[in-house]
Amino acid sequence: MTDCENLGDCPDSRVEKLYEYLDGALSHDDIVEIKNHLESCPECTEEHDLERLIRTVVKRSCREVAPETLKAGILARISEIKTTEHSSPAVQ
Ligand SMILES: [Zn+2]
Repeated sequence: MTDCENLGDCPDSRVEKLYEYLDGALSHDDIVEIKNHLESCPECTEEHDLERLIRTVVKRSCREVAPETLKAGILARISEIKTTEHSSPAVQ
């Protein structure tokens, strides 16, 4: 099967599976599918890396900092990075 024929326009269902993958909630077959997909889809790989980063930082800091405040800060930082990377104005 061909996933993500249009790079940068990955179906939302795929991204949701990505979160389940990070939660360890997928079956073995789904994990293999996601891993294969990540290798061919830069969009999902970026999403995966960002989400994993957020989870790592939140997990590490949740005893000291309110997670919601922290996550908001991280998300703000990420949108800054994304805006810079794509060098296009953020759509509000
Ligand atoms: Zn994808």
